[in-house]
Amino acid sequence: MIIRKAFRYRLEPTPEQTQLLSGAAGCVRFVWNRALSIQKSYLEQKCGILSFGEMSKCLTNWRNGEAFSFLSESRVAPQQQTLRFLDRALLDAFNKKSPKKFPTFKKKGKKDSIRYPHPERIKLDLQTEDKDGRRIQQKIYLPKIGWVKFRLSRPIEGKIRNATVSREVDNWYISIQTEREVADPKHPSNSAIGADRGVANLLTLSDGTFFAPITAFRDQQLKLVKEQRRLARKKRHSVRWNRQKTKIAKLHQHVSAIRKNALHQISTIISKNHAVVVLEDLKVRNMTGSAKGTTEQPGKRIKQKAGLNKSILDQGWSILQGMLDYKLRWLGGMLILVNPAFTSQTCSVCGHVDSGNRLEQAVFHCLHCGHDAHADLNAAQNILAKGTTAGHAGLACFTGANL
Ligand SMILES: [Zn+2]
Repeated sequence: MIIRKAFRYRLEPTPEQTQLLSGAAGCVRFVWNRALSIQKSYLEQKCGILSFGEMSKCLTNWRNGEAFSFLSESRVAPQQQTLRFLDRALLDAFNKKSPKKFPTFKKKGKKDSIRYPHPERIKLDLQTEDKDGRRIQQKIYLPKIGWVKFRLSRPIEGKIRNATVSREVDNWYISIQTEREVADPKHPSNSAIGADRGVANLLTLSDGTFFAPITAFRDQQLKLVKEQRRLARKKRHSVRWNRQKTKIAKLHQHVSAIRKNALHQISTIISKNHAVVVLEDLKVRNMTGSAKGTTEQPGKRIKQKAGLNKSILDQGWSILQGMLDYKLRWLGGMLILVNPAFTSQTCSVCGHVDSGNRLEQAVFHCLHCGHDAHADLNAAQNILAKGTTAGHAGLACFTGANL
């Protein structure tokens, strides 16, 4: 089994290196935007888009020509890589089965990133002491940038595949993608569990365990509103306005860090205790995107949905699903997604399906057999039953599991 893992560290570049990084990120952004505008004009004229190879030739011309000679001051590999990303994004946008959003132009300072695709070009100096025994800082070598200091907050495992440098607010980070092969793991537990995602409780497990919602976002909401108001009172693009904008961006960053941390804790506990986890396949993105509806078909109950959507985003369900997926696989377990239809209206004891079974949000009462239960717990038990009766390939590996 191959385990791919990303290790992220904060870089501590010198002012000169910061300038070089900004320049390299600017070049990458320029190449992306220019290539995208060319591809768009080809599409408008209905001539099909240029291939990656053709686009790469354009890049060579830009770098060698006079008009865009500044591009040649930065490494070519990240610029080529952004063309590869764009190529991928265009293919994804035209994918008939599940089309993704059409790529957009990149704005200065927003999601700036530089991908270094060649691991042999990246060097690490992980010494913590110099030859006289004095403490020194770890460094990473980035082509055309030089040796950049960083703090090795946790050790790197595996072989380096690539690295991405990105800017967040006013800090630079490096994310090192690694790969290592391990023997196929065998999950220490043999239990299977169903989990219902909700608003009142983040997760309810079929064994009766509850996980409370993460309130980080809501706690900070008032603070954010206050800071946003302060921003509105300032003159756009003035020094104070920019400072306030940075403050808000940092607040957002802080909230997302708290949330991610909480989701890591929850997913670690669940994936260690259970070999098989069954979740509803909610297509989270569809749910969160649909409240507004279209002009021909305005969405119903926009207000309620918007509230629910905010909660959904708040909880970061899709992040949690992703974490459970890879953590389970690394441990030798598996995540199963099932169709969510009727999981909340079905009686987990007798199987009777009736919308009248759930007249209240929190209580389930079966009109057929009289079974009373916490509504989310009843749903979680139905989800587990669906996952383990669906005859999933791979479930056979868990012959010991109490399925
Ligand atoms: Zn019943």
